[in-house]
Parts: sequence; C-alpha cells; structure tokens
Amino acid sequence: MKIICIGRNYADHAKELGNEIPDEPVIFMKPKSALLQSHTPFYYPEFTNELHYECELVLRVCKNGKYIQEKHASNYYNGIAVGIDFTARDIQEECKKKGLPWEKAKAFDNSAAVGKFVDITPDFKKSKINFSLKLNQEEVQKGNSADMIFNFDSLVSHISNYFSLNIGDIIFTGTPAGVGECVVGDVLDCYLNAEQMLTVEVK
Ligand code: ZN
Repeated sequence: MKIICIGRNYADHAKELGNEIPDEPVIFMKPKSALLQSHTPFYYPEFTNELHYECELVLRVCKNGKYIQEKHASNYYNGIAVGIDFTARDIQEECKKKGLPWEKAKAFDNSAAVGKFVDITPDFKKSKINFSLKLNQEEVQKGNSADMIFNFDSLVSHISNYFSLNIGDIIFTGTPAGVGECVVGDVLDCYLNAEQMLTVEVK
C-alpha cells in the first residue's frame, strides 16, 4: 500500500503558512513505514524541534485504477477516516528554502496516524463532512470537506494520472487552518462528524 498526501487544499491553511492557493493539487507521498498503527505509541522524533499536527480526512481506495475520470472517481474509494499528518515543520521550512524534497519532514516513521475507517454509504453526505482535532481537550482545528479547494473526486482523478491507485492505498486530503506545535505529553483527539475516532499521545 502507499500513502498519498495532498498539501494546501484549504485556502485558510495555505494562507496561514504563507503559501499561494495552488491551481492544481500539491501531491507528496509517505511510505508504508509512516503508518502509525492504532495502539502503537507515537514517540517525538529526535531530529526535529518543531513537530506539528495536521488533522485531515483520509480516503480508503477500494478499486485499482489509472487515468480515472472525475465522473467515475467515487467508485474508487469507499471509506473515510480522520488522520494526522505529522510534520517536522522546522525541517520542512529548511527543505522549502533550499528547494529540496519534503520527505525528511513529512514521511518519517509513524508520521501518518489514521483512525478507524467508516464506510461511505450513499446517504453519507460526502460533500459535507465535519472533522476536528482537540489538543489536550481544547479544539484547535476544525474543518469541513465542503471547504476543500479540490474535492475528493477531482483529487482521485488527478492523482491517478501520475500514480496508479491500488486497493488499500490511502489518501490524506489536506488540512484546514489551525495547525500547530505539539510536545511530549500532549494528547491529540480527532473527531469525524463529532464522533471521536483517533487518539494519539506524544511520548
Ligand atoms: Zn497535511
């Protein structure tokens, strides 16, 4: 499986980091070793001094495909979860400044935490999914899928022009505003439509 991630997919988040609104999706990847299995502890990585959380909706790919047309894209994912794209912001800033790839900042071990997947049923309103993150019980991020610059179908279609999608792949669809730092001892709780779906304690 592979983990595909989208950057700058919410205008308010692009602005908070001083980035332009992209005219096509910003794509990066994480390897399988980045997946934080549930009930596995998350340890603060020793190479960073500025670890950020990014709360995101995550899609589960259920069908193999390539060059998927947008009108057919919804057949290729059938589950949704809330996840955290952990980012070593200091390393990322350094990479951006030097024009280097982001992997050291984004794709390290356990940097992709994913909660339990919920099946996307026809009555599940794909276009209006609320999600949020609480840092030590205080809400710091709140998003709605309706505010995405590129919606799920256009992301799946665009990604599949470059990377064939396979059953079991997952797609992090971008973070809304409110990203911030977390430190050892912090507890991060993620919610999908008000239901708690993921807890990560930083050790
Ligand atoms: Zn992200």
